[in-house]
Amino acid sequence: MATFGTLSDRLTETFKNLRTKGKLSPADVDGTVREIRRALLDADVALEVVKEFTGSVRERALSDEVSKALNPAQQVVQIVNEELIGILGGQQRKLEFAKKPPTVIMLAGLQGAGKTTLAGKLAKWLKKEGHTPLLVASDLQRPNAVTQLQVVGKQAGVPVFAPEPGNGVGDPVKVAKNGVAEAERKQHDVVIVDTAGRLGIDAELMKQASDIRKATNPDEVLFVIDAMIGQDAVNTARAFQEGVDFTGVVLTKLDGDARGGAALSVASVTGRPIIFASTGEGLDDFEPFHPDRMASRILD
Ligand code: GDP
Repeated sequence: MATFGTLSDRLTETFKNLRTKGKLSPADVDGTVREIRRALLDADVALEVVKEFTGSVRERALSDEVSKALNPAQQVVQIVNEELIGILGGQQRKLEFAKKPPTVIMLAGLQGAGKTTLAGKLAKWLKKEGHTPLLVASDLQRPNAVTQLQVVGKQAGVPVFAPEPGNGVGDPVKVAKNGVAEAERKQHDVVIVDTAGRLGIDAELMKQASDIRKATNPDEVLFVIDAMIGQDAVNTARAFQEGVDFTGVVLTKLDGDARGGAALSVASVTGRPIIFASTGEGLDDFEPFHPDRMASRILD
């Protein structure tokens, strides 16, 4: 994954140096931890996450677990792997469905994060999994958002509930609510509600997203975040957590060649799991997120 190319190379280099040593002295451990710390910071991982991560790695690397190991260097790599899985959320968290359909999934995030594209990807994926999704166009902010959703809906072969006279023109909260009612009427078992973003966080955006949340009582609120936004990731995620509160995260643009620190910070900082990853502009560039697989890709 291009996003983690540099980080991955640097960690590989660090571990290569480590492997040339037999027993590890505390100085070796400190040197290794320092290199990991620099590599993570250069990859734009949030400082608080880096501190916690390197603190745990250091503590474990200096413990009996390592000094008694047959191959101490290998053991340290294993610890880094486990801690990496930990900051990525640990176990895989699957999408949760309502006991009584329809399951309502609301998407939230900044403009340009990839929400509308994600709506199409998710709809296509759900359809393939045997569901009967309905897309709801509640992003009435961006001039083209409704049309864009209709385009991805068509590509995914999934109907779109769009604002028309009688179902809430101009009022995203009403459109969302009416969309869920339409899904109940037409027996769609999942509703995906696309909402408006802004280029930056603002109170009006949060209020609108929060009102849509209240009006539709979603089973999942997915916070969609561009993995390339770097150090802003943490503040953005916290603002959305406070403003809307989300149940899971979707990382987009993991195919980009920027540093991708957001991917490694968001789950840890918000305590919310990453559920999906988006890796391109096409509707099939999308997959459920597996913390262990992501960790292996980084440490490969
Ligand atoms: P929204 O404003 O949050 O609805 O964002 P859009 O869905 O319109 O996406 C913004 C831009 O990012 C579009 O040009 C998408 O094609 C692009 N995009 C979305 N997801 C990805 C992804 O995973 N990788 C890449 N490279 N581009 C993406």
